[in-house]
Amino acid sequence: MTRTNTDAGTAGRAPRRSDADARAAGRAPRTNADARAADHAHVFHSWSAQAQTEPMPVAGASGAYFWDHEGNRYLDFSSQLVYTNIGHQHPRVVAAIQEQAGQLCTVAPSFAVDIRSEAARLIAEHTPGDLDRIFFTTGGAEAVEHAVRMARLHTGRHKVLSAYRSYHGATSTAIHLTGDPRRWPSDTGAAGVVHFWGPYAYRSSFHATDERQECERALRHLEETIVGEGPGTIAAVLLEPVVGTAGVLVPPDGYLAGVRALCDRYGIVFVLDEVMVGFGRTGRWFAADHWGVVPDLLTFAKGVNSGYVPLGGVAIGERIAATFADRPYPGGLTYSGHPLACAAAVATIETMRAERVVEHAADLGARVLGPGLRELANRHPSIGEVRGLGAFWALELVADRTTREPLVPYAATGEAAAPMGRVAGACKERGLWPFIHMNRIHVAPPCNLTESEAKEGLAILDEALEVADAEAR
Ligand code: PLP
Repeated sequence: MTRTNTDAGTAGRAPRRSDADARAAGRAPRTNADARAADHAHVFHSWSAQAQTEPMPVAGASGAYFWDHEGNRYLDFSSQLVYTNIGHQHPRVVAAIQEQAGQLCTVAPSFAVDIRSEAARLIAEHTPGDLDRIFFTTGGAEAVEHAVRMARLHTGRHKVLSAYRSYHGATSTAIHLTGDPRRWPSDTGAAGVVHFWGPYAYRSSFHATDERQECERALRHLEETIVGEGPGTIAAVLLEPVVGTAGVLVPPDGYLAGVRALCDRYGIVFVLDEVMVGFGRTGRWFAADHWGVVPDLLTFAKGVNSGYVPLGGVAIGERIAATFADRPYPGGLTYSGHPLACAAAVATIETMRAERVVEHAADLGARVLGPGLRELANRHPSIGEVRGLGAFWALELVADRTTREPLVPYAATGEAAAPMGRVAGACKERGLWPFIHMNRIHVAPPCNLTESEAKEGLAILDEALEVADAEAR
């Protein structure tokens, strides 16, 4: 059953204002078809064959839900692209953006402006260790680009090592650093990037039989890669502390500390990409906090202000900050530290503190999502592995649990990927918006999802997984 926004029953749900206004003016309310046609006319969509896009029209959103023009409402288990960590339309953040707009919409990055200073101060209060200086960007890929540039200038070396099974953004260096098929069409092989295999015990590249072995062997492989490439040529190792879109891969204990030690041994800058997992997603402010590891540079975006206004950045440790104390940093962006984005960040961080959103995400993962998803695995043979933490989980779907053959092949497209499309369709028909990538369902709802919303989503997944089970047989 598709739920409608009229039966939402949650305080603060936004009315469908455009439809109400249309009716008051004697016009027909907007339909999904109208919205789709308007989109098709001029919008060029990312990652898509333009003639084949069928974007879902969105008329409004509130908290963990969004809805179309015809009353179909979806529980957002994707947080859009894993960024609405405090849900849609949080009134405190909306008000802060409005207030900032009334006061000072924009000012160039070279000026001192209180809202930017305050955003940087609040971010630095939560970043690990000495990562206390904030370079602002307008998104995650730019943050990665600048982190790499800082590492190269700091070390005087050029190469960057990043993992297969990773995503670091779609700009030039960031897409080269990306370790999954999204890189392939843009890869010129000329960015100084070397990929290595990170730990993934369920499908070990190292023939490991347990997590400890996986950790040890993954670290040995990384060291061999460093030695083979020539340590004196390597500026940085870049990693997602918990791999995001490429698998929700939680590293074994000791892995990140081991990478830190290798970077120290060979004079390499350690960059953690927390764009997806930072700001509460895994039940800590930053995923690195689970293991007490402090990188030299940390990239962030998404959850910093729940994506209400585009913002990203690099948190810079003391040593690299010192490199640029008397030597100009050769890089910048017109909208670096945009006041509206910073106002959204200040309000988001204050809200997360006041509402204990990070603690809530940890509890939700430990008490509701983790156990609930494992319970689904007991009932559904198509679930090969459940993994994750906080408000960040994956169900890895398989055609056969014994062989672990994925439900759809790696990098499948078209007909080969259709089984996952049918699973997604089964979720959507029942009012759940899932995040599906390759053979996985990622569960990444807002970090302030209520327990009853979590249970509503789990119940829908339970039904939709019947479709996966049928595909698996
Ligand atoms: N790094 C990681 C880990 C990401 O997940 C993403 C986006 O999903 C990016 C970088 C790129 O961020 P953006 O799309 O804001 O450029």
